[in-house]
Amino acid sequence: MDKLECKIVKDLLPLYIDGVCSEESRRMIEEHLAQCADCEKTLRQMQTQVEKPQQQDEGKGALQKIKRKLRKRYLIVIAAAVVLIGLWTGLSVFMQMAETPISYEDIKVSVVQDKKIPTQYNMVFNGQSYAGWYGESELVKEDDKYQYEAEIVHCTSSLWTRIFERKPMKNEVSFSYSSDPQDSVYGTVTDVDGTKKSTKSIRTVAVYYQATPGSPRYLLWVSDDFKKLVYQQIDDLNAVAGEKIIKADQ
Ligand SMILES: [Zn+2]
Repeated sequence: MDKLECKIVKDLLPLYIDGVCSEESRRMIEEHLAQCADCEKTLRQMQTQVEKPQQQDEGKGALQKIKRKLRKRYLIVIAAAVVLIGLWTGLSVFMQMAETPISYEDIKVSVVQDKKIPTQYNMVFNGQSYAGWYGESELVKEDDKYQYEAEIVHCTSSLWTRIFERKPMKNEVSFSYSSDPQDSVYGTVTDVDGTKKSTKSIRTVAVYYQATPGSPRYLLWVSDDFKKLVYQQIDDLNAVAGEKIIKADQ
């Protein structure tokens, strides 16, 4: 092939690719390309060079599309997680709030004297797990120095403990009583100038379990020096008020 013709064709190829050369030049180039493998090869090389950047752009676009898609998916996952956490929190609060009293038979509680501190009495559970415990005190006796009180306690279960804490407690000590005199908060009357007028201390002398008002009361523990008095009160109450109180040793 004529080297000069090849040179002219190669010079014109960029115009040919862009489609801006004259009709005559185009025909001449095509005729030459049909016979000259070398120039044909040059044309193909030039065409791929022109196309490459475009392909790269397309690739970039696709990558950004994927990134955008992933970001969207990521946001959806986060939103779903937030909603689920919110729902779960709400549900668990609801499950913990709905409390119902546990019967004496189900809670399986006894009061046992502490081995290290003789004045401490531990409530030992072997029954159903409880969500909360409630207590109120009842006056047994009063003298110049002390208010002797009985604690009436009950425990509650919740949907939460009934579903997720079904395994019975095993010798679990959750709270204790002390027969030591406790300084009373509400038994102390303070004068306007801050001086104490009366400082009566409270001594816990008995502990009862009673699930709901009106249901049988169970005496869990009574201090030895108050056994006579407390038992007499139980007998009186059982007779007079018709309340059913079960003594500790029955
Ligand atoms: Zn050529």
